Amino acid sequence: MNAVVMSASWSPRAGYALSERERITGKATMASQVYRDPVFAWQSVPDPTPARDEVVLAIRACGVCGSDTHCYETDREGYILFSGPVKMPCICGHEYTGEVIEVGPDVRFLKRGDLVAAEGMLNCGVCEACRIGRPNQCPHLEMVGFSAPGAYAPFIAAKERFLWKINGIAERLGSAQRACAIGALVEPIACSYNGMFVSAGGMLPGSHLAVFGCGPIGLGAIALGRASGAATITAFETVPERLAVARAMGADVAMDPRTCSPSEVIRETTGGWGADMLVEAAGAALATMPEIEKAFAPGGKMVYLGRTGLRAPVLLDVLVSQAAHIVGARGHVGGGCFPNILRLMERGRLNVEPMITTRLPFAQTLAALAKSTDRTDGKVMVDFVL
Ligand SMILES: [Zn+2]
Ligand SMILES: [Zn+2]
Repeated sequence: MNAVVMSASWSPRAGYALSERERITGKATMASQVYRDPVFAWQSVPDPTPARDEVVLAIRACGVCGSDTHCYETDREGYILFSGPVKMPCICGHEYTGEVIEVGPDVRFLKRGDLVAAEGMLNCGVCEACRIGRPNQCPHLEMVGFSAPGAYAPFIAAKERFLWKINGIAERLGSAQRACAIGALVEPIACSYNGMFVSAGGMLPGSHLAVFGCGPIGLGAIALGRASGAATITAFETVPERLAVARAMGADVAMDPRTCSPSEVIRETTGGWGADMLVEAAGAALATMPEIEKAFAPGGKMVYLGRTGLRAPVLLDVLVSQAAHIVGARGHVGGGCFPNILRLMERGRLNVEPMITTRLPFAQTLAALAKSTDRTDGKVMVDFVL
């Protein structure tokens, strides 16, 4: 089969202490410190065959993730921007859905013809983090499309335990392909769900929600806030196209933070109360933190989902006076993230379709990756049936 393979040269930065494990496995723990000069190209690779507990899927849709973009883009010295674990060469793509076409003998719950959405984080299931219910913190994690074969390919082999059926969404929509496109959004939305509801413990209906950054994670937070009964949702984003998507997905107020004082906008929108939950999905804590500090409602929670290597000063006194919390989270597995989002989608209770702003056929996957670098889309979707 022909797949989009990313490769790069293994060239650890001068100051980076390569571990023994990285040397032996060829898997960089912090890819941005090791891999430079990435190349994304079509390559002929063997068709996958299922292990005993695996199925083979014909891929139907795969969203372009910010992490894909971060592997595609480089800094001035040519190093990729993605700081997670990567082993190249690797078939890229991980936010995918597909149709089961082949079933290993030990597979129990899936059959040919089932449509499924896939988790992209392959936690080991055996280590202490996994066994105490922290699969997103598994130190042995393999990541689809980064260290394990990905989904910019016609087929993929996947373990049953990482797959969730989306047949019900197809039935409701009367379209398998629409279900597969929406299903491919579950992975990024599950990152928002994991932060807001699993790590931070959720918010009460009638709460005021504020979202900083309206990429897929921030947009997912808006959709989930609407579904869970937020009284108001205030969103901030610098890209005008994304502000429009934020409104379409349910934000009451969506503004460019450079043209206003976000904390004042939040106070105004909430009648002076402040935000009960603030989601940082901009990865720009240096700019957002000073505003978030001023916008906490009493007992408010900030959920930090963005990523930045930079330290950001925090006025801790605010946490005392407002009894506020700051919570971090990464990942999208465990905690009911996938099944609960799928239930909402199956019943039409999560407004997510406006997030897909560009659809390109599989043959144009390289163009889809290039398009993602302009950062104007809600989500660029590679649609295998176009
Ligand atoms: Zn992703
Ligand atoms: Zn583990």
